[in-house]
Formats: sequence, C-alpha cells, structure tokens
Amino acid sequence: MKILLLEHPRSVAPERCNDIANTPLSSCLQSGYAAGMLKEKGHDVEIVEGYLDKLSYAAIMERVRIVQPDILGVHLVYHWQNDHALFDFLDTMKRDGQVSSITAYGFYATISYKNILKQRHAVDSVIVGELEKPFADLADAASFKNFTPCIPGLAIRDGLGGIGLQKPEPVADLDSLPFPVRTEAMNRLSEVNLLGSRGCYGKCTFCYINSFYGTGNPWRGRSPENIAREIDAIIRESGLRDFYFTDPNFFGPGRVGQDRALEIAALLKPRNIRFGIEGRVNDIHDETISALVDAGLRHILIGLESGKDESLRRMNKMTTVSQNEKALAILRKHGIEPNVGFIMFEPDSTPEDLRINLEFLKKNDLLKNLAVTANVLYHHQIVLEGTQAYQDLKKENRLSLGPSSYEGTAYFKNPQVAGLADIMRQTTNILFNRMDGIWSGKTIELRGMQERYARVNRLFVKVFEDGLTSLEAGARLEKDRIASLVRETEKEMDEMLKITA
Ligand code: SF4
Repeated sequence: MKILLLEHPRSVAPERCNDIANTPLSSCLQSGYAAGMLKEKGHDVEIVEGYLDKLSYAAIMERVRIVQPDILGVHLVYHWQNDHALFDFLDTMKRDGQVSSITAYGFYATISYKNILKQRHAVDSVIVGELEKPFADLADAASFKNFTPCIPGLAIRDGLGGIGLQKPEPVADLDSLPFPVRTEAMNRLSEVNLLGSRGCYGKCTFCYINSFYGTGNPWRGRSPENIAREIDAIIRESGLRDFYFTDPNFFGPGRVGQDRALEIAALLKPRNIRFGIEGRVNDIHDETISALVDAGLRHILIGLESGKDESLRRMNKMTTVSQNEKALAILRKHGIEPNVGFIMFEPDSTPEDLRINLEFLKKNDLLKNLAVTANVLYHHQIVLEGTQAYQDLKKENRLSLGPSSYEGTAYFKNPQVAGLADIMRQTTNILFNRMDGIWSGKTIELRGMQERYARVNRLFVKVFEDGLTSLEAGARLEKDRIASLVRETEKEMDEMLKITA
C-alpha cells in the first residue's frame, strides 16, 4: 500500500498566540511512529511535513497528485478555530480521486472522533488513541480494498447514521515498537524529540493525556536500553546530540520510576549528550536529579500550577505547595532553572487565590524573567473535551462552546477575576506579538535590551498587582476601564521597548 502521512500546516489566531500548545508535545512523533510500523509491515510510506516545512496546500496537493496514495493519514491538530483550509483540501483530494481513503489521528481526532466523522465527509475513519497497530491493520485491510474495516481503535461510520468503534488496545510493550521514522525537518529542530514513555499516573482535572491513552494504561515506560539504542541510532545517522524527552511525565511512579530514571542516567552519561525532560514536582528528588544532570540533563518543565494547596486539590494535582518549593530548590541546587507550568486563572479563582499565587511567585523568584512572568501572570485554565474539568463545568452550565465542542470557555465564578484575567490576556498578547521575533529566535536582540525587558517585566507585575489590589478593595473592572488599562499598558510597554538611534 502507498501511504502518505500529513503533518498539516498550522495556523494560530493572534488572540491565542499566548496559549499553551494546542496538542501535547508528546504527539509530535505520531506520524513517525505510524511510519515506522507501516514500513516494518512492508508498506510504502512518506511523511509530508506541511507544518515544519511551511508548505502551502498547493504544494501539498502537488505531492499527493504525484504519490497518489491509497491512504492519506492526517495528524489532525486543533487550531483554536475551524480550519477551513485543511478540510477544503481534504474535500478536494477526495472529490478529485487523488486518494482512495483518508484517516485522521492524533489527540484532537481521538477526543473528537464522533464530531469529525459526522461533520467531515472526506474523512473515512479516525484512529482513536495509539495508532501503530490500528494503522497497520487498516493498511492490511486496505490491501483487500476494505478501507473501513471493523478493527479495534478505528472509528468508522456504521452505515445506519451512527459511529462504530471497537475499544482501542493500548500498546502493552513499548519496546516492541519500531523506532519512529524521522524526517529532515524533524532533525532541523534545535533538539531531537524522543518519547521514552507514554501516559501519566496523574489525574489532573485539566489534562487529557490519559483520555487519549485510555483507562488502565496510565504510564508505560520503554526500557532504558531501548531508549539508549534509539539515541545511538540517531547519533550514528545524524550526529545530533541534543535531545528532548517529550513524555508528559518522564518519571514513572514511585521508587520504581526513580530507579528507572537512574538507569537511564547511567546509560546516557557515557554518550555525551544533552537533554530536556518534563515531570511532576513530586518526582523531583536530589539523587535522581543529580544523576540526570551528570548525564546531560539541561532543562526541565515542571507543572507547579498553583501556589495554594486548596487550588492544587481542586485540580486534583496530587501535589502540594511545599513539594513545588522543594522541587524548585532541588533543581536550582543542581544549576537548573526550570520552565514552569502555572495556572493563574482557574474558573473558580477568587481574588484571595490570585493574591496567594502572586506571593508564591514572588517568594520563589518566578517573576524576574519577562518570558516567565508573562506566562505565569496570564495563564488561564484551558478547557478541552476529554478532561474532567470539561465534564464538570458542562454539568454546571458554565461552559460556552465555540465553533466545535472540543474546547469550551469557562465562565469565571467571580466576574471581577474575569476582568483581571481579560486585562492580563490582552496585555500579554500584545507583549507576545512585540517579542515574537526575539523569543522565536528570528530577530537578533540589540544591545542594551535586557534592561528594557527588565522594566517591562516590572510593568507587568505592577499591572497585575494594581489590578488585584483594586479588586480586593471592591472596585469593579468594567469594559471601558479594562480597555483603557490595556491601552495605557500598551503605550508604556512600547515606550520602554522603543529603540532610539
Ligand atoms: S501531571 Fe501532567 S501529564 Fe500528568 S495528568 Fe497532570 S498535567 Fe497531565
């Protein structure tokens, strides 16, 4: 079978430029893993990097016309809005007979498969959850001209107006999977993405990692030896030595998880590489971090989420503020300033919660770097289908749904908190647009800018704190007041960032 896997072009609405990723980072190797499995089964597979290679749909159409694939697989990524260009492209490919069948996969496709099959007629099937086995089974069936077989993990129309899905079967042994196929575009990234484990043993209410992988399979790790073998193969083929583990949670649970991390560190140390990871604060322990740093760990993302225990409980984070502080101390002791996940504005936040968060951020030196400050003082809880928060808020009639039911906007319990959240969203969006060139590495930073960024940083802390103080004093943040505060902040920020000859 000829199979073309498409990483489609992605667009981000300017007002969502500051929102966290619209697909978990761990999804970035999905096409690569599918291609690895399909190649092993003898199929002819090509990945088209529409996103990383910045291809137009015209260029992608041309490629499809040349390849004439039996199956076009699309890694469907949510775009914060309706992606007309993508679905028009799929319609055209199907109508013109350029592809026999289209199957979609990925987090968005998995969570929203019913809507996709109901609304998008060009899509014949959706792979729900892990894709290697269902995709291989689909390709086998397609060899006999059956493009919509009844197989576990493949959602299809049942012919009676409904959608049929046999329960997906998660991969029990990750070492049994072929290594993912890597494209030139992937190797141009500053770090090579790796996936050392799947799932997470946490159950945070705002997260849908485990809805994707399915219940009963909360965390599975590859063996340290299998990971080392893949790293060796990458070094041999590309010479690259900077890696990033895209695992939602690098550490497995408990002592066993720590021992596995120590084994990984022991195997990576002689390989002279550098790498980054993501993890939960309760898994940050001195001995393990010391060994990982010695083996090349250079950066880490940890989910602090809040400076208040009650909020952490509300999010079912299963961590505490003291664990947050301990993790920060351990990482800093080993020379690592972590990237942090932080949800300043939860749908249930009160001014008191915001104050406690602010004091936590100040106390723990998390408001000194402009990029960090802009994130931690702004982040709203994003409410996506497949999360516990989505279900709860929907039940309470506190969710407004946009063009798709995939994402909801939560109504804040406290309207004044909503006002401050709006100010922070608008002002940080302006900042992110101004800083886009610098923070994306496209523009070279001019001399002397650091002092200006420090002033803008202080401005943002002040805007947040002044807004909060006025809420605490009972002031109302009406629309006009919000608009004028945003205008004033924008003016001050532009003055501070202005470059004089
Ligand atoms: S710890 Fe992270 S990956 Fe795990 S459930 Fe919570 S948010 Fe998701």
